Amino acid sequence: MDIKTFGVIGSGQMGNGIAQVAAMSGLDVIMSDISLDFAEKGLATISKNLDRNVSKGKMTEDEKNTILTRVSVTSDLNDMSGVDFLVEAAVEREDLKFQIFRDLDEICPDHVILSTNTSSIPIGRIGAQTKRPGKVIGMHFMNPVPVMKLCEVIRGLATSDETFKVTMDLCEKFNKTSAVSNDYPGFIANRILMPMINEAIFCVFQNVGSPEDIDTVMKLGMNHPMGPLALADLIGLDTCLAIMETLHDGFKDSKYRACPLLRQYVEAGWLGRKSGRGFYKY
Ligand code: NAD
Repeated sequence: MDIKTFGVIGSGQMGNGIAQVAAMSGLDVIMSDISLDFAEKGLATISKNLDRNVSKGKMTEDEKNTILTRVSVTSDLNDMSGVDFLVEAAVEREDLKFQIFRDLDEICPDHVILSTNTSSIPIGRIGAQTKRPGKVIGMHFMNPVPVMKLCEVIRGLATSDETFKVTMDLCEKFNKTSAVSNDYPGFIANRILMPMINEAIFCVFQNVGSPEDIDTVMKLGMNHPMGPLALADLIGLDTCLAIMETLHDGFKDSKYRACPLLRQYVEAGWLGRKSGRGFYKY
């Protein structure tokens, strides 16, 4: 399958990162959000990231401009009717993703693969919203997308071999290393990562240690590049809570219950870096 035009739904930290990587690989990209303002903000972030590459001597000003001209933005989902492959990176809410996939199934021609960057929601459940479950797959990029090497690829029960192959080829084109996961809540990455982050939040909640000390223990003691609380702030505490809820609902196991402090922070609008406050202030 020859992929020339790539659609991205959602222009937040993941969406604009995915759009940047796709444009850098030579694809024409359409990135959408619920308002044109949000989509343009995503485009401005791409431009800022590319500026950093230019100032570090990793690309020329001309290369940057060529990449930027490949990305267009919209707030109208119908503009996705001409794309060859699509990745959805809207907020981690099942009802919202279900609606987006039902809409995309109407808008996009039958051959188009609809992938999702969901952190935790089973792909089969999303695919079942469409009349093309064989063409629905998970492409779980890591944050920040242009920097992180991994893309976790998740096959639903119904995902076809051809969809899988096209997606793996695309990972390679994007210069990502893929790891394949079967379709259980949280897949591999967040099945392991998120309970660790949640436990770190319990340590704050029970005053086992300060956020700084907890992160220092994990960085210097376990050689993690970033402490779990700083990582939670980077991911977004709303996203962390949504993932814990999906694990808890999916496995019906109390070991996945979200820490009450995480819930309190999200309810207060303390979402981490993106809102200026989480376990740290930004
Ligand atoms: P974000 O809050 O930065 O961005 C989400 C964007 O989606 C926002 O701009 C929002 O306006 C937009 N949006 C909401 N409803 C929409 C709709 N109906 N149509 C189009 N856009 C819509 O969130 P994010 O961190 O970019 O996360 C996006 C997805 O990526 C989630 O599914 C998340 O679980 C997943 N993910 C996140 C991370 C991470 O580290 N943050 C890592 C891997 C995967």
